[in-house]
Amino acid sequence: MTCPICGRPADPRYRPFCSRRCADVDLGRWLTGGYAVPTDEAPPDGGPASDREPPAQRRDGR
Ligand SMILES: [Zn+2]
Repeated sequence: MTCPICGRPADPRYRPFCSRRCADVDLGRWLTGGYAVPTDEAPPDGGPASDREPPAQRRDGR
């Protein structure tokens, strides 16, 4: 089994990911892809697609 994020061998503790970092990256992708960014009130469709953030950098501790 390999990590779907970076393709390295998966760690049993973080499977199917290789590390906590890749698990966070996947979670970030899922969150930002599931609905709009909560700090932005713009509608998800019809608005400009220029205000996206890279999902790998979103690590809010809530
Ligand atoms: Zn990985």
